[in-house]
Amino acid sequence: MSGRGVRSIRGMNDILPGDASAWQTLERVCRETFAAYGYQPIRLPLLERTELFTRAVGEVTDIVEKEMYTFEDRGGDSVSLRPEGTAGCVRAGIEHGLLHNQVQRFWYAGPMFRYERPQKGRYRQFHQFGVEAYGLIGPDVDAEQIALCARLWRRLGLTGLRLEINSLGTVEERQDYRRELMAYFSDRVDELDEDSRRRLERNPMRILDSKNPEMRPVIAAAPAFEDSLGPESREHFDGLRARLDAMGIDYTVNPRLVRGLDYYTRTVFEWLTDQLGAQDAVCSGGRYDGLVDQLGGSPTPAVGFALGVERLVALIQDQGTAPDEVAPHAYLVHRGGDAGRDAMLLAETLRDALPHLRLHTHAGGGSFKSQFKRADRSGAALALVMGEEEAAQGVVQIKHLRVDQETEQVGRDELPDRLGRYLAGPGGNDEHKEQR
Ligand code: ATP
Ligand code: MG
Repeated sequence: MSGRGVRSIRGMNDILPGDASAWQTLERVCRETFAAYGYQPIRLPLLERTELFTRAVGEVTDIVEKEMYTFEDRGGDSVSLRPEGTAGCVRAGIEHGLLHNQVQRFWYAGPMFRYERPQKGRYRQFHQFGVEAYGLIGPDVDAEQIALCARLWRRLGLTGLRLEINSLGTVEERQDYRRELMAYFSDRVDELDEDSRRRLERNPMRILDSKNPEMRPVIAAAPAFEDSLGPESREHFDGLRARLDAMGIDYTVNPRLVRGLDYYTRTVFEWLTDQLGAQDAVCSGGRYDGLVDQLGGSPTPAVGFALGVERLVALIQDQGTAPDEVAPHAYLVHRGGDAGRDAMLLAETLRDALPHLRLHTHAGGGSFKSQFKRADRSGAALALVMGEEEAAQGVVQIKHLRVDQETEQVGRDELPDRLGRYLAGPGGNDEHKEQR
């Protein structure tokens, strides 16, 4: 690239066709799985009033203190690129009267923006899929969302993901815990880093979320939340655990799991992997019963999670489990006489008959040899060959480019059936027939 070219912004990635297959697999499996649990799509703006996030995420959080892309628009309003999806979802739910005394299940997807230090698995523009359920108070829906996640991993063929859960109690119970933590950390100020000292007064629970390894010992010895849980929160947590046990979903209780946002109550959970280095969380969420009220709606219980698309795509690619959803199934090679015209007609007929067929028709002429080279490079499994002779006889040759199998000759009329059977068969890589 020339020195004068304009480069992309650090931490904001182009997602190129080479990565498209894993992205599309993840996106499709998410959409299908969310629908299987009754969640409906909601599409929300990328830009919101800054106040929404300071009120929802919390002022003393990494996100609001140092990660938001905030600026004044031309009308003088302070706006921010969304750092997460829940605040906007609640805002929209209140604004459109969707939450009052109703049960709603939504999912959203799209880019989020955080000014973080870019590294593997951590970017400034990254993508999430998120799920939110409103109006349901019991631990059944918490457990169901976790089961939904487990099903996602199964459908994606991913292994090695572990689940951690914790309970943060109610807002009131947190006040007690906060006092306890404040007392504990105040006695150990010299062991705290600068960030933690700053947090001590306003939000000592944030200290538990510190990513500084030097803070680990002092955090490990801090009082656990358990002791501050009231009977109802305890019952909720026990209810969650009983359901996870009944469904055979493994988990560990991590009493230090507090999550990076202020709005959580009771259940919090995180799915982790050992295969991505330091950026080990692929999906996290929990219950936020106070947030709707806090943003001006009538009190409504809520629970949700968000998954990090880039991290899951990396896992899908490392584990090599996704079907190819991008490479053409077939590359149509043609040359001589009426073959070019006939090939184009044939391609249209095939697309009519097989809407899922990914067919690349050669364009630009050239020898058979050069066309086969392109066919090979396209990643297609099959070459459909129409030369002068085939055109005259109304037939097509099917050449297998990836497996050692004899070339077949098929009449043009039979070709849609033959390809249909191929798509449904083991070599077809047909994404519509995968495991459940
Ligand atoms: P982390 O602890 O890794 O900073 P987080 O607790 O800030 O994550 P959430 O706000 O809960 O993350 O977002 C849900 C998911 O989004 C995370 O589990 C992660 O997979 C992904 N995610 C969060 N921040 C980033 C980022 N900067 N780049 C890529 N993915 C991210
Ligand atoms: Mg973070």
